[in-house]
Amino acid sequence: MLPLFLFLILYFLKMIKSRKILVIEDNLLNQKILFFLLRKKHEIKICSSGECALQLFKSEWFDIVLMDLMLPGIDGYETAGRLRVMEKKLYGKRKMIIIALTANTLDNDRDRCLASGMNDYLPKPFNMQKFNDILASLNFS
Ligand SMILES: [Mg+2]
Repeated sequence: MLPLFLFLILYFLKMIKSRKILVIEDNLLNQKILFFLLRKKHEIKICSSGECALQLFKSEWFDIVLMDLMLPGIDGYETAGRLRVMEKKLYGKRKMIIIALTANTLDNDRDRCLASGMNDYLPKPFNMQKFNDILASLNFS
């Protein structure tokens, strides 16, 4: 009886902790790294383009979006802007967290990220502690 009880507790704790994360990244190696790092605690989906993400978001909510900025087709800034428009239209007051992922660390990039609707900025390579710090700073941990 006790093992079952513990199992249920752990199961529900996992459910509470688990976030739905959409990774938008065109680099295969980066996709694999992010998937490997995030899958233990979260539910992950991966898109290689902004178009893919916009299509997916029509039918599926995500709590967090990790957004590469340099993408084939529409870039990360444009994708973020369009996701925000769709979010308002389709999901009302629900707000997801959009975090930019980029190798470019110029300061004005961060401003551009915020201006296009993203919440924050994370330099590559992806660092789990920094990611968690951002979520905590947004009261989302
Ligand atoms: Mg890229």
